[in-house]
Amino acid sequence: MRAQVLEAFNTPYKLKDIPKPAEPQGHDILVSVGAASYCHTDAVFASGAMWQDLPRVGSHEFAGTIVALGPDVPSSLNLSVGARVGVPGRAFHPCGSCYECTHNDDDPHGYGVWCSKAGNLGLTRNGGFEEFAVADSRQVAPMPDELDAINTAPLMCAGLTIWNALATAGVKMEVGGGKGKSVAISGAGGGLGHLGVQFAVKLGCDVVAVDAGDKALALLEEIVRDLGDLGSKVTVVDARKQSAEDARVAIFGKPEPDLAGEKGVDAVLILPEAQQAFDYGMQLVKSHGICVTVSFPKDGFLMQPRDLVFRHITIKGVLVGRNHQLRAMLQFAGKNGVRAKVKTYPLEKLNELVQDYHAGASGKLVIDLQR
Ligand SMILES: [Zn+2]
Ligand SMILES: [Zn+2]
Repeated sequence: MRAQVLEAFNTPYKLKDIPKPAEPQGHDILVSVGAASYCHTDAVFASGAMWQDLPRVGSHEFAGTIVALGPDVPSSLNLSVGARVGVPGRAFHPCGSCYECTHNDDDPHGYGVWCSKAGNLGLTRNGGFEEFAVADSRQVAPMPDELDAINTAPLMCAGLTIWNALATAGVKMEVGGGKGKSVAISGAGGGLGHLGVQFAVKLGCDVVAVDAGDKALALLEEIVRDLGDLGSKVTVVDARKQSAEDARVAIFGKPEPDLAGEKGVDAVLILPEAQQAFDYGMQLVKSHGICVTVSFPKDGFLMQPRDLVFRHITIKGVLVGRNHQLRAMLQFAGKNGVRAKVKTYPLEKLNELVQDYHAGASGKLVIDLQR
């Protein structure tokens, strides 16, 4: 079968003919891959910064059709040959006995998405840039009728991460569950951000969408247009032109003297790795608010303890999400029209995709294996 293989760090992927995986064993399923999306982590991995083994087939967010099931796939998962599924990177073969695996908030028995002994497709195991991929049946989610492989793939890492970030920000994850809540997204015009704006608005939140690049802001304008009447719930802020303080006054009004802490968003999501994005976001949050970061820059963020001490801001972080969150997110996206802006490429053009990614392409870049 055809696969794009990374054989050495900082080199292009090589299109190769590799053996099709054997019949699935245990909890495993074999998936005929329909589409596989490119994530920032693929770029980090390819740079050699993650100390994992090569050769490797990348992509930890993909989607396709089940062609075979192992003998131990639990019937409670409702998976069968021919079923269409979305496949995230985590967690392949969790240990089943550690704290993560035994305290899993009603995910499948013994399945811990953050099990540190588990594998990660596209990183420690082969991922989606190949015609057939092996996945753990407990990590996948059935695709709703409204979605195809191309719009499901980008939801498997970016979509799940931003969904969990909104949940961690205190939003109730159902239509109307965000009513009365305001959420700022720092880096709103990127791959995660443009999905986050859609999810937040469709959950009922008021959104302050902050970015600082022409392409990102153009993508945000497109998202707002697509939202129709709901677009009025989004305020787009160009951080190059407006300070956080000015944006806060423009959106929430001038505070009474000494009561500035009462004006601002209830929560902010920090998506870029830049310190300015972190600082800007923190200045938009009101006292007692929540800051959720999904980025983890190599040299860290400089955080002001006075924001925690005097303003009672809580800082949290998230990494993807549980299997039941993945399933809920995918159903919600299908029913409520949350779609990534995608550009597709055939499998043999993966290196062209990577070049476009590094040139700052907006939205999500996806390999279409049916092309
Ligand atoms: Zn990812
Ligand atoms: Zn475990």
